[in-house]
Amino acid sequence: MTAVLRRLSPWSPAESRRLLLLVGAGLVVVAVAWWIVSREAAWSEQTDAMGLAVIGAMVAAYGVTSWLLRARAVCTARRNAMFAVLGDVGPGRTAAPIVVIDEGPAEFVVAHPEQGRYHRPDCALAAGTNWPTVPRVELADRQACGVCTP
Ligand SMILES: [Zn+2]
Repeated sequence: MTAVLRRLSPWSPAESRRLLLLVGAGLVVVAVAWWIVSREAAWSEQTDAMGLAVIGAMVAAYGVTSWLLRARAVCTARRNAMFAVLGDVGPGRTAAPIVVIDEGPAEFVVAHPEQGRYHRPDCALAAGTNWPTVPRVELADRQACGVCTP
């Protein structure tokens, strides 16, 4: 479950399409209902279309709310995966002592093609990414990650 959530991103094309589809469909329904209401002069003739507008607004609200809840779940899964490296920390908890292992400089590192830092392949900040593995000497113009100190 956590691995699946870590692969998801609220900013992925699939999630963006889902969000736009639901919000767009809801707003189209609201616009159509508004148009229908505008053509009726009597209150009693407008109420059916007003109900339709409420349904459209509910569809749009569902789209935004479900997107936010999925994004929150993804962020929580990523945070938990990152803190799993450090141990159970937080208010009222005692963190496990950090064991520093001096691995020496990494020969190969991973880095986003356009971002400024590079990481060890097993760094929690690079977990779940598909960043390319490159020799460290090719990234001499970038900064080393402060967490994994490659
Ligand atoms: Zn790192």
